[in-house]
Amino acid sequence: MSSPLGGNEGGRSLRAVLFDMDGVLYNSMPYHAKAWHRAMAQFGYDLPEEEVYMHEGRTGTSTVNLVSQRQHGTEVSGERVAEIYAVKSKLFNEFPPAEPMPGALSLLRQLKAQGLKILIVTGSGQTSLLDRLNSDYPGIFCRELMVTAFDVKRGKPDPEPYLMGMQKGGLRPDECIVVENAPLGVRAAKAAGIFTIAVNTGPLPDSALLDEGADLLYSSMQALSDAWEELSASFNK
Ligand code: MG
Repeated sequence: MSSPLGGNEGGRSLRAVLFDMDGVLYNSMPYHAKAWHRAMAQFGYDLPEEEVYMHEGRTGTSTVNLVSQRQHGTEVSGERVAEIYAVKSKLFNEFPPAEPMPGALSLLRQLKAQGLKILIVTGSGQTSLLDRLNSDYPGIFCRELMVTAFDVKRGKPDPEPYLMGMQKGGLRPDECIVVENAPLGVRAAKAAGIFTIAVNTGPLPDSALLDEGADLLYSSMQALSDAWEELSASFNK
């Protein structure tokens, strides 16, 4: 079914929105990129800051092994990965607290007012951010409707985290939409069969998100929030 927006969002009965966290709810990606680059450098690995945005959503293990394979042709022991990830987390936590993404709270309040379920599906294991969700976004999230690094084995770009999110929410793919900022996050959500809205909040070209199958793309969370009223009407047509 076509829509005023020219997308294929019509014909569903929307019950839930699944949110990625980093780069969507928090402007945390610049700190993650710097922390990854510096931590990897300490262990002799070359991972440019800009490249971190392409890997966003992967588990720490997957990111380290991808670089190690490229540089040395081998994978890294679990112990070594834990060491590197601990350094990365320490460096991340030395930055000032990441700011909530402008526009996110106004969007979440609209969804809440519409009675939609709101879930978080993140590859993050940064307890510093997870702990802040309730103070920055009061009354929006509950722990039972969150999928984090502690819940999943494979992580994005595997559909596992989004499949688990739907399971936790008792949801079918056609009842959900996903909001993602990362190419691998879009790939994971599409592989789970979910309509996916990309928000390009980082330095990558729009094509990085559209090529993974994003159904719609907005330049910021504020732009998505501003468009939501019209967009949500077209979903339920
Ligand atoms: Mg993200």
